[in-house]
Amino acid sequence: MSDCVFCKIVAGQIPSTKVFEDEHTLAFMDLGQVNPGHVLVAVKKHAENLYALDDVQAAAVAKASTRVACAIREAFKPEGLSVYQANGRAAGQTVFHYHVHLLPRHAGDGMALTWPVKNPPRERLEEYAGKIRAGLR
Ligand SMILES: [Zn+2]
Repeated sequence: MSDCVFCKIVAGQIPSTKVFEDEHTLAFMDLGQVNPGHVLVAVKKHAENLYALDDVQAAAVAKASTRVACAIREAFKPEGLSVYQANGRAAGQTVFHYHVHLLPRHAGDGMALTWPVKNPPRERLEEYAGKIRAGLR
């Protein structure tokens, strides 16, 4: 078994607050909520980074990210939404399993993200996830 934390989340060995799942992807609330509605979209099969994705995984991540982003917009009405992925330690990553961040943004947020961020209690994550799931089409 891999030591990868995201592989353990996909396998259900580490609990996560799920918002979307299909054959190739799993989307769940980031424990570090920069703004309410911050979601991570991960490929299910371990792929270290963008370069390791096959065409099916790449298409699946784009589809899942778009669907969840629309649901986040519906749920939280942010003024904008940042979609980003980062590779490697120099990019600030500590988990080397491909994932995309969907981050609602509001005026005055600024571009710089500060880490660690304010972490809401688990029950807030479930509340946020419920709002997003309700907005999925
Ligand atoms: Zn992994």
